[in-house]
Amino acid sequence: MPQPGQRTITFSGKVLKKLEEIYTLEKNKNPSLSFASFVSESALIELERRQILKEAPLISLISLNDDTIILKDLRKNNRLIEVQIKNKNLKCISDDKFDCIHVGFTLALPEVRKALSN
Ligand SMILES: [Zn+2]
Repeated sequence: MPQPGQRTITFSGKVLKKLEEIYTLEKNKNPSLSFASFVSESALIELERRQILKEAPLISLISLNDDTIILKDLRKNNRLIEVQIKNKNLKCISDDKFDCIHVGFTLALPEVRKALSN
């Protein structure tokens, strides 16, 4: 039985089979991964992705050079937002955050992915 602050969910049929297939692949890379962590992390990542997709049309790329990316954010009166790449990490200078929507948007740019993988 679930403890207070917990909730039990049930998967069955095709969904369970698909989740188990992907879990097996992930577990090969990370043997300590539990099925519960795999499923809950995947759900959170997906929700974050949806949020980024919802907000991304309001953000556009202005310029990109070396380690500095400038974005325009329609939600903030077209304010210019600066994101910097430092030691292969992205930081939004405007928000002073490593995980805001601007960082998510920047991470999705092919040029940035390329720069980070070098
Ligand atoms: Zn930001």
